[in-house]
Amino acid sequence: MSDKKNRLTTAFGIPVGDDQNSLTAGGRGPVLMQDVHLLEKLAHFDRERIPERVVHAKGAGAYGRFECTADVSRYTKAAFLQQGKTTDVFVRFSTVGGEKGSADAERDPRGFAVKFYTEEGNYDLVGNNTPVFFIRDPLKFPDFIHTQKRNPATNCKDPDMFWDFLSLTPESIHQVTVLFSDRGTPATYRHMNGYSSHTFVWYNEAGERFWVQYHLKTDQGIRNLTREQADAMKSKDPDHATRDLYQAIERGEHPSWTLEMQIMPYEEGLNYRFDIMDITKVWPHADVPPQVVGKLTLDRNPENYFAEVEQAAFSPGNLVPGIAASPDKMLQGRLFSYHDTHIHRLGANYHLIPVNQAKAHAEASYQRDGFMRVDHGGGGGPNYWPNSFNGPAPDAEALEPPFPVQGAAARQPHDHENDDFVQAGTLYSQVMSDQDRTNLVGNIVDHLGGARQRIQLRQTALFYRAHPEYGERVAQGLGLPLEEVRRLAAMDPEERAQATSE
Ligand code: NDP
Repeated sequence: MSDKKNRLTTAFGIPVGDDQNSLTAGGRGPVLMQDVHLLEKLAHFDRERIPERVVHAKGAGAYGRFECTADVSRYTKAAFLQQGKTTDVFVRFSTVGGEKGSADAERDPRGFAVKFYTEEGNYDLVGNNTPVFFIRDPLKFPDFIHTQKRNPATNCKDPDMFWDFLSLTPESIHQVTVLFSDRGTPATYRHMNGYSSHTFVWYNEAGERFWVQYHLKTDQGIRNLTREQADAMKSKDPDHATRDLYQAIERGEHPSWTLEMQIMPYEEGLNYRFDIMDITKVWPHADVPPQVVGKLTLDRNPENYFAEVEQAAFSPGNLVPGIAASPDKMLQGRLFSYHDTHIHRLGANYHLIPVNQAKAHAEASYQRDGFMRVDHGGGGGPNYWPNSFNGPAPDAEALEPPFPVQGAAARQPHDHENDDFVQAGTLYSQVMSDQDRTNLVGNIVDHLGGARQRIQLRQTALFYRAHPEYGERVAQGLGLPLEEVRRLAAMDPEERAQATSE
């Protein structure tokens, strides 16, 4: 008889006598319906998988802390952003387009999501390793993601879909340039930066508002894989970045990132030369120098991947007093979508899963019941507000200061055709080294070469618009007629689309 303290039981704690032999009539079967242990075991196994995240399915996570090292109280009243404060965090890194079993070395943006367990509830900074994004309107998001996934007929990745959408969406050119640089294949999760990408709002005790951008700069240094190295890694170790993070932390090599903030006064932001609500743009450092605010360090691995990483759920809507959303349209869409997808994936009570639970304050709300409400669910206390039974009451101090909104309500595009190419051109011509440019062009040619020629031409016209040499080198690599690329580059988007459609 085994140690009774360590006795195998059913889900309901009933001791199990034999876990190797099903209950059968005779040695050769059949199996009896009354083997409830077998039935429970198979039924639970059948339900082991939960819906995979539609995006960011493959990920790795770890716990750590954030220390605020600077006095930013004139910009924000957020309690965890007061100098000297240390706050526990959980961070999840991920790729975006691949399924849960896909390779870590795929060319893709990397998710960089941080959950700060602050004394005023959980604050989620749900960023990427790129400072910009492909599109600036959430209405385009499901279409965009479809093009990064599998063809509905072949169930294979499809360069035609991928480049058809991007080449018809010129606002993507900046992010495409970042993605096809070697930053699109980071060496590990430890060797990349994280960015909020969106503009957010900070506000101070006096209610003054500032526009901010977050930059988490790796203290390990940026390290990328070349296309050839990434291709080799995909077959050698599809989990290389997941393994690297886990093993580094086990070895006591605790990765860290320095939080630098770009902070812009409210009025200045409204008149800035780039639209700060346009996620396809950065704020050039020379205009708004980043300021060091703190340090993020990861020092503890999860004990159970499913419980702590697969079920970790982040939402850009989890904002604490002192931090608010900006009108950035993509952010506004994400405020809905993340919470909604977690309710679908994990259930209405996903906030009770320990990794997602607020630490300093237990939930004190009037939301009740639902699947998997596993605590006392508010007990016998009032389940409505207002009440006169001493139930939790709103605190006006937690209110965001009022902010102006303006303009006519309409479905209105940004009118920035020319703007779309400026920052991609700067990145290509002024930030990248010769080697970076060579690798960028090689990476593009390798991938875009899989699309049909009319799509190659349309996309290469966009590279040409960003910088003529950029377009010329891609055209040369693909063997495209340069005159045709130039002709398409001179067209407006509708004309270009028409000239290159079936
Ligand atoms: P800066 O010269 O001040 O900054 C350029 C920044 O580009 C660097 O600090 C680095 O950001 C990043 N960078 C360096 N090499 C690469 C590369 N191969 N691929 C992608 N990014 C790289 O110039 P500006 O601030 O005026 O920006 C110029 C361009 O740099 C932008 O148009 C944008 O494409 C890119 N960039 C700008 C960022 C910003 O927030 N201003 C952030 C990242 C890129 P980091 O230090 O964050 O690694």
